[in-house]
Amino acid sequence: MADHVQTVVIGAGVVGLAIARELAPHGPLLVLEREDAIGTGTSSRNSEVIHAGMYYAAGTLKARSCVQGRRQLYDYCVEHGVAHRRTGKLIVATEAAQLPALKTIAERAHANGLTTPDDALQWLDAAQVQAMEPALRCVGALWSPSTGVVDTHALMLSLQGEAEAQGAALAPCTEFVGAERVGPHWRVRTRGSDGEAFEVDCTWLVNAAGLQAQHVAARIEGLDAAHIPPALWLKGSYFSLSGCRAPFSRLIYPVPSGGGLGVHLTLDMGGQARFGPDTEALDPALAAHDQPDYRVDPQRADAFYDAIRRYWPELPDGALQPAYSGIRPKLAQGGPGLDANDFEVSGPPRHGLPGLVQLFGIESPGITASLALASEVAQVLAGDRATGS
Ligand SMILES: Cc1cc2nc3c(=O)[nH]c(=O)nc-3n(C[C@H](O)[C@H](O)[C@H](O)COP(=O)(O)OP(=O)(O)OC[C@H]3O[C@@H](n4cnc5c(N)ncnc54)[C@H](O)[C@@H]3O)c2cc1C
Repeated sequence: MADHVQTVVIGAGVVGLAIARELAPHGPLLVLEREDAIGTGTSSRNSEVIHAGMYYAAGTLKARSCVQGRRQLYDYCVEHGVAHRRTGKLIVATEAAQLPALKTIAERAHANGLTTPDDALQWLDAAQVQAMEPALRCVGALWSPSTGVVDTHALMLSLQGEAEAQGAALAPCTEFVGAERVGPHWRVRTRGSDGEAFEVDCTWLVNAAGLQAQHVAARIEGLDAAHIPPALWLKGSYFSLSGCRAPFSRLIYPVPSGGGLGVHLTLDMGGQARFGPDTEALDPALAAHDQPDYRVDPQRADAFYDAIRRYWPELPDGALQPAYSGIRPKLAQGGPGLDANDFEVSGPPRHGLPGLVQLFGIESPGITASLALASEVAQVLAGDRATGS
């Protein structure tokens, strides 16, 4: 007979771990992770920015979970000693033609509830920006005081620790290979890295497998393929700065473009600058066969120099070095307004299968939104229990 737990969470990225922490008080919980450590996927291939929530259309899950998640995350970091810094961020227009795009962002921020002295965006003219960041060239900017950076790995370790303290267990090197309904439960089949098979029954099954969420979904018996969205991978490469330090103490973003936020400058917890991510649509065959390609093509540096010198003309020749890349799990090709892609939390009201919740398209701002997404999953499961489905 298979062991029984209340919940199986598939995937130990920041979202799966936040969900594990949230659901652990409801009963025994197992997190399956196919790699040998937590957070080796998208959760360690990103900008580590705590986003304020100004880019996404009001009413979307992205907008809601980003704003709520950002507030929760700052509180969480303070309470649990997770390293973070409220750096603030400037979104810059480098030519007058970009000012309407900034206006749209300012309107969205307002519609998304960024209205307190803590998080409301402020308009700055070129002289005000110069006073803050003398090396920055622009015709105007929006200042976001509530944007910051977080040590994502420390966050994940903290979430894991809390989940485990409440009785959850992590199974590394354990791949989800399928699930089927057996009576009132899910029977989950797994395979260890040594090839050993193992089965466990659960009441709640949560698919938080990030880039692989569609692959996992396809192995859940009884799930109509109509409820599995297409997997579109949009790669983002980063370049680091070598031989000099960036003369900025705040995050610098251009106006968004190409389904991403534009080649921006972020600072890690040590104040070291990195640039990116750019946008590169990957061949759909790579997503279909689960073959992420994380190599950074040094040739992409040319476009980085062009993009960065629009706001930092003094960027020295030869200063950019290929660093790393991440892949955004998109559900639709994104336009400049980033509207084409919302997060998808798909529960029983949508697909009709009891106790199953799946997360699709958890690209940026997934770190910022992780605690709010975990609450969202708990609410979906509470609703499922209430209707007795
Ligand atoms: C370029 C880039 C920049 C970003 N910048 C930011 C940012 O600055 N701020 C922000 O808030 N967000 C940012 N994001 C988004 C954020 O990184 C992601 O939303 C978040 O990390 C997703 O976490 P996750 O847990 O859903 O996925 P992942 O971290 O990918 O975790 C999924 C886990 O599931 C495991 N898994 C997969 N298949 C199986 C299986 N069959 N069995 C068992 N385990 C399995 C994987 O090994 C992996 O560990 C960025 C994303 C990208 C790509």
